[in-house]
Amino acid sequence: VLNYFETKCGASKEITDRAKLRIPGGVQHNLAFNYPFPLAIDRADGAYLTDRDGNTYIDFLQAGGPTILGSNYAPVNERVAEVIKASGPVTGLFHEYELKLAEIINRYLPHVEMYRSLGSGTEAVMAAVRGARAFTGRKMVIKVGGAYHGWSDTMVYGLRVPGSFRMNAKGIPFGATARTRETFPHDLGTLKRKLIENRLRGGTAAVIVEPVGPESGTRPVPRDYNAKVRELCDEFGALLVFDEVVTGFRLGMGGAAGYFGVTPDLTVLGKAVSGGYPMAGGVGGRADIMGVFGSGLDGKSGAHVQVGGTLSANPLSCAAGYFAIEEMARTNAPVIAGRAGDRLTRGLQRLIDRYGLPYVAYNQGSIVHLECSGVMLLDMRSPIKLLKENKARKRLMEQMGAAYTAHGIITLAGSRMYTSMADTDEVIDDALNRFDQVFAQ
Ligand code: PMP
Repeated sequence: VLNYFETKCGASKEITDRAKLRIPGGVQHNLAFNYPFPLAIDRADGAYLTDRDGNTYIDFLQAGGPTILGSNYAPVNERVAEVIKASGPVTGLFHEYELKLAEIINRYLPHVEMYRSLGSGTEAVMAAVRGARAFTGRKMVIKVGGAYHGWSDTMVYGLRVPGSFRMNAKGIPFGATARTRETFPHDLGTLKRKLIENRLRGGTAAVIVEPVGPESGTRPVPRDYNAKVRELCDEFGALLVFDEVVTGFRLGMGGAAGYFGVTPDLTVLGKAVSGGYPMAGGVGGRADIMGVFGSGLDGKSGAHVQVGGTLSANPLSCAAGYFAIEEMARTNAPVIAGRAGDRLTRGLQRLIDRYGLPYVAYNQGSIVHLECSGVMLLDMRSPIKLLKENKARKRLMEQMGAAYTAHGIITLAGSRMYTSMADTDEVIDDALNRFDQVFAQ
């Protein structure tokens, strides 16, 4: 594996070495692993990526999720180019694409009666939490251990979760998370207990979940989990927030809400909501709740919850999202990508069984997991044990990620893959041949 990087990736190595001087850590955004060094990517096209040295890879990262149509999708790009020609990327003023985006989201997610575009998934979660507190007049928020809701102070990943014990919390004052409570993944008993405890702490404004389970289903939840969380929220008067940053338009045009048949009060969107263009995020939901974000046109200026962003709701991103959603519906992209995910997962599991490896492959549509550590993280109750296992898992994932890359496949952190509409049977079968070579070694 190291031989591949040494002999075939000279240009990437040169760029990364230079980057160490000017960019902290030598890299700022790389969702694949950086071991032994990150690749500098020059071109993307459908199911493929090409690096600076001219090596081509099958792209199962798909930018971390947004490009359900496939990377660098020309029909959307061409329409976006027309918008740039007309208005440029931003004016700071109202334009019709803001509305068209909110309308098309409502067409496929009817429970998103109103929608507010923001800069990223992280910002949209911040807005959802703030809005829920303002609407309910309550203080506490409950998240699920290990779930990722962006990098804001109050929602920091691994807040107190066993296995990632304040791992990502450097620089965050302890008090910032005082009103966030965490449950064990897929454990409804701890959720109920927190809801009861919170009655004495000012009440629970919202429960926020990733509907496929923490970290895009790395820790899967039972099929009826979301329905049961919905029931508990209703019992305690808390708002249910679905973080659909990954699942929105990916599990189907109706997102996770449609997939699980559960209706949240608020929905956080990101990634696919701007079709891979920047400023991907927004919060939407019941009109009465969304009213807290009113901008003052109703004569109540100053009475509302503040959200903002110079580039929030810019014409470029709103138009890109609108075009991408239209195109995903027209082409049936979520279903096609989901079938590719099924084919990939079945093929991987066949290989795992053939070689008798202690791995497991599983998927929810186009979200595919390939766990090689033997740690499914289902029991999150032993912090020390899981901390150790998590470290070992991370190291193994890093090495597996590099091995896949050396065989022409880019994954998310060596353990997760997103398929897209560009993944034909030929692409998946080619990928399976490459996985076969890695597993054989
Ligand atoms: N929520 C979930 C479930 C996510 O996967 C992510 C990003 N991976 C976020 C929120 C944060 O979104 P962003 O990166 O756009 O801030």
